[in-house]
Amino acid sequence: MRVLVVEDEEPIADAIERGLSKLGYAVDVSYDGADAIDKAAVNSYDVICLDLNLPRVDGIEVCRRLRDDRFGGGIIMLTARSSIRERIEGLDIGADDYLVKPFAFSELAARIRAVTRREGGLREPILTTRGLELDPNTNRTKRDSKEIHLTPKEFALLYYLARNEGRAVPQEELLEHIWDEHANPFTQTVKVHMNNLRRKLNEGFGDQLIETIRGKGYVL
Ligand code: CA
Repeated sequence: MRVLVVEDEEPIADAIERGLSKLGYAVDVSYDGADAIDKAAVNSYDVICLDLNLPRVDGIEVCRRLRDDRFGGGIIMLTARSSIRERIEGLDIGADDYLVKPFAFSELAARIRAVTRREGGLREPILTTRGLELDPNTNRTKRDSKEIHLTPKEFALLYYLARNEGRAVPQEELLEHIWDEHANPFTQTVKVHMNNLRRKLNEGFGDQLIETIRGKGYVL
């Protein structure tokens, strides 16, 4: 179980980190919102504990961007007693739960367990094909047992192609399923992500898993 603690008050962040580590969680810490978004893009977290009042990018915006980027783990907001409006906004845009500061560490631990149980109830099957092992619950990706670190978008692309193995999937279809309705169909978004995905998949392997079929799309 991997947790990201996003909290700019270092003593609080460090106390949570120590407590969760003792309980056996793998814990990363971000002291501002922009760093949290960067970390969530490259690591697969089961839960993010998110302070709302943060430097650089505030917690509500972090939550919004995580869900826009299809972050599938739990989000627990850490809020001040007075910020009822923010709590409601946070829950509306995809946070799972909140805790009002100051809180007891044992309560945070209980909320994390509850959120991950909820996630656990919806676990999707791990997909294996062509030497790949894709876990949609954690975005964990392996090729011939070697772990490959994909961003959530790269994972979503690969998972979609794997589910449609053998069929050439047009770029528009990928855009429609993996990006939201605001994505501009005339940008190079899919191409750019696809290039990064291919580079990561082939590092140390040599053969190309994803082929481009002219005029038809991408095929695994
Ligand atoms: Ca704060």
